[in-house]
Amino acid sequence: MHCAWRGNGGKCKTPRQRDNDSMSHRIIPVVDQRSHALPLPTVALAATGVLHDMLQRPLRDLRISVTDRCNFRCSYCMPKSVFDKDYAYLPHNALLSFEEIVRLAQAFVAHGVQKIRLTGGEPLLRKNIEVLIEMLSALRTPSGQPLDLTLTTNGSLLRRKAAALKAAGLQRLTVSLDGLDDTIFRRMNDVDFPVADVLDGIAAAQAAGFENIKVNMVVKRGTNDHEIVPMARHFQGSGITLRCIEYMDVGATNGWRMDEVMPSAEVVQRIHAAMPLVPLEASAPGETAQRWGYAGVDGLHDVKLGEVGVISSVTQAFCGNCNRARLSTEGQLYTCLFASQGYDLRSVLRGSSGSDAELASTIGQIWRARSDRYSELRSAQAPDTSATAGARRVEMSYIGG
Ligand code: SAM
Repeated sequence: MHCAWRGNGGKCKTPRQRDNDSMSHRIIPVVDQRSHALPLPTVALAATGVLHDMLQRPLRDLRISVTDRCNFRCSYCMPKSVFDKDYAYLPHNALLSFEEIVRLAQAFVAHGVQKIRLTGGEPLLRKNIEVLIEMLSALRTPSGQPLDLTLTTNGSLLRRKAAALKAAGLQRLTVSLDGLDDTIFRRMNDVDFPVADVLDGIAAAQAAGFENIKVNMVVKRGTNDHEIVPMARHFQGSGITLRCIEYMDVGATNGWRMDEVMPSAEVVQRIHAAMPLVPLEASAPGETAQRWGYAGVDGLHDVKLGEVGVISSVTQAFCGNCNRARLSTEGQLYTCLFASQGYDLRSVLRGSSGSDAELASTIGQIWRARSDRYSELRSAQAPDTSATAGARRVEMSYIGG
């Protein structure tokens, strides 16, 4: 049998042994990036209305992290060795209140945001999240349209919460699920959480009336890549769209290595070999996933069989049409997932003047000055896997995935 990972004595290593190995070589940054905000622009200039950044990218999509806590310890996101009982999560008074989140959301919507995704951490851990959803669902774009309001969850609390989320006005749902094999899934979430409970949560969401649910699978070569085809088979024709995400070098604690990334092209090949695929057009500008439809016997897309998506943030950077901003749990605005610093909007909100006009103008000026394209620059160079490169970046659990 081929084995790319051998320990002393030549024995093939288990995925857990490999994870432990990479953890022991990991350098954990001692500097807390959360406290290092960029200077805010001075608000002399009024910047309102739909915005474009330095690379002519509009602001359309806002991701809001509602908590930095999670009940899973996926090694690629919140490894147990770092996020242990001594980890200093944000204190309650540092979090944006629901009213503050809605005020900020309103200012972003005035600047062209049409889609809001609630994330975290695990967003369903935030107390009364359905109240926030109800407040956000009342917002309208300048042309009077409701927002595309969605949420990403690990699914662990979905069975209990699905009906309340739907009733509050949540339109769409993405559930993270890295495999169907219970042993693999428990190992990846690292808290021994059973896969059956997440599948029950997805079923509850469908029963509550959620349509077009997406399932996000982070693929780590050698850990869960053999689950790709079973996952595709399971969700084919179910009305649920599987999306395979390349394992990203986000944050500073996951011990990312390029050899654990399975390029999307390979993922597509594997699925295509089992269930023929045809390429589909992007459904919206700035869409992160490349879409593939399952082909029927005539070789054309069979809509009843549905589709699968791949998100190639490592091998095919998509900065060129990135229209996303991210708001951390404590109100720092990040204009790139791979940024090392954000802008402290909470200080504007809680400041003495803190007017809506000041808020709108601050956001406008930050977006207009935006020029980041981390993933594209990284693709043009050899990946920087040094500890200092990672140490500069914020964690996904804090900035919001
Ligand atoms: N707790 C929620 C969940 O599990 O979906 C929301 C937060 S989580 C940070 C959002 C998404 O980011 C999940 O789909 C997760 O799998 C993905 N993610 C986290 N770390 C990642 C990494 N290093 N590479 C690729 N995707 C990652």
